Amino acid sequence: MDSLNLIGHAWRPALSGKTLPMVEPSTGAIFAAIPASGAEDIDLAVMAARSAFDTGPWGRMPAFERGRLLMKLSAAILEDADRLAQIEARDCGKPMKQARADVAATARYFEFYGGAADKLHGDTIPYLAGMTVLGIREPLGVTAHIVPWNYPMQIFGRSVGASLAAGNACVVKPAEDACLSLLRIGELALEAGFPPGALNIVTGTGESAGAALTAHPAIDFISFTGSPEVGTLVQQAAARNHVGVTLELGGKSPQIVFADADLEKVLPFAINAIVQNAGQTCSACSRLLVEKAIYAPFMERLAAAFSALRVGPHDADLDCGPLISARQKSRVEGFLQEAQNARLPVLAQGTILPGAPASGFFVPPTLVGAVPADIRLAREEIFGPVLAAIPFADEEEATRLANATDYGLVAALWTRDGGRQLRMARALRCGQVFVNGFGAGGGIELPFGGVKKSGHGREKGFEALYEFTTLKTIVLNHG
Ligand code: NAD
Repeated sequence: MDSLNLIGHAWRPALSGKTLPMVEPSTGAIFAAIPASGAEDIDLAVMAARSAFDTGPWGRMPAFERGRLLMKLSAAILEDADRLAQIEARDCGKPMKQARADVAATARYFEFYGGAADKLHGDTIPYLAGMTVLGIREPLGVTAHIVPWNYPMQIFGRSVGASLAAGNACVVKPAEDACLSLLRIGELALEAGFPPGALNIVTGTGESAGAALTAHPAIDFISFTGSPEVGTLVQQAAARNHVGVTLELGGKSPQIVFADADLEKVLPFAINAIVQNAGQTCSACSRLLVEKAIYAPFMERLAAAFSALRVGPHDADLDCGPLISARQKSRVEGFLQEAQNARLPVLAQGTILPGAPASGFFVPPTLVGAVPADIRLAREEIFGPVLAAIPFADEEEATRLANATDYGLVAALWTRDGGRQLRMARALRCGQVFVNGFGAGGGIELPFGGVKKSGHGREKGFEALYEFTTLKTIVLNHG
């Protein structure tokens, strides 16, 4: 059955009646259809959100009640976990264990922001005698959310969860490559009792529905996660309407390993940070910087572990699933071809499960080294399971190489030297640094976002609530 848009409290097809096919990454087969929405559908959704915020019960709801609704949605997501995981795994090509972890994280976002909704206190500011000054956090109004295909549920949870908690009404445009889990969460939100128009979900292409949403004059803010190229377009659209925007545009994050690190501990993190979600993770560590003194023996161990990795369809639940699309597969293969042309050694490659559908979008995890720091493989976001190993001589060179891309999202640092831990953590130009550990994107509670071409603004944690609110200063003169 074809999916429908959630607009107000109604499920509707695109006004044009057009649909887009949904392709299963594990097989390349079409398995569903979604509305191919246009500007007219976006307009209806923005108007539904506008009335929810301006005149509806949502805009008047006390913060603790909004929080309760978010908590209810969190519980409903957990109850629906098996179904949601199956939807997400099939739609994105994720191994089932990854999809289950995504469901759990999504529920945590709504739980965290549900709990935070009535704890967003303001300030009083000392000022002149006879005056009291209040700083009050107010919702922005209608927020637009452009969600990518790599972690549809999680990115929806972190962005929409925070925005709803702050009291905004949301219009979400999921990615055309993977969006079915969000429509299911829309159903759960209606069952949980969200009032009409608080949450609207409209599917369609970026060029049509996405561009119409970001350009709509009645939105108050845009939260975007995706490519830097589209990030530029989104920022231009935001500028025309003078609305704020958070941009989360991916990265080329380094994992930096010094000779004094506990190498046994590093190995699984080095692998998981690039293999998780087939490397289609904005905070993937796609560069492995290794101190020269241990480069050769560490690479040998890593190569052995890499060769054991297995790739297959989502329901085979292996280390790695397919990439999202034929386009993404050929993009990643293009990078591997360049490595081959440059005669860079492929140190190890995982294997594709024998019998995996030939029409699936599989690319084996690949370890390449030593990669010169100035070529595309070491500088650009590949968004696939390709790890570039780069040797370094000392702390100074490690810091320079780590900062030598246009991106700055996250970094992981492995060393037992306390002074170096702090020196480097401070010198790395990025939004999050993990010392002797790594978690892609970190926890729900931790502010997340980038510098440089990785974007700006922070999502996750309490910090996101500030992004989704505006500060009003009230000056009371009481003599
Ligand atoms: P994209 O930036 O084109 O798509 C992301 C979202 O933006 C989708 O919902 C899409 O429909 C929407 N969009 C596209 N054009 C738009 C427009 N003009 N106005 C408004 N919204 C628009 O990303 P992609 O093409 O799917 O992937 C390309 C590359 O982007 C990947 O290879 C990867 O490097 C990067 N990427 C990064 C992330 C991340 O988490 N940072 C996520 C997805 C893709």
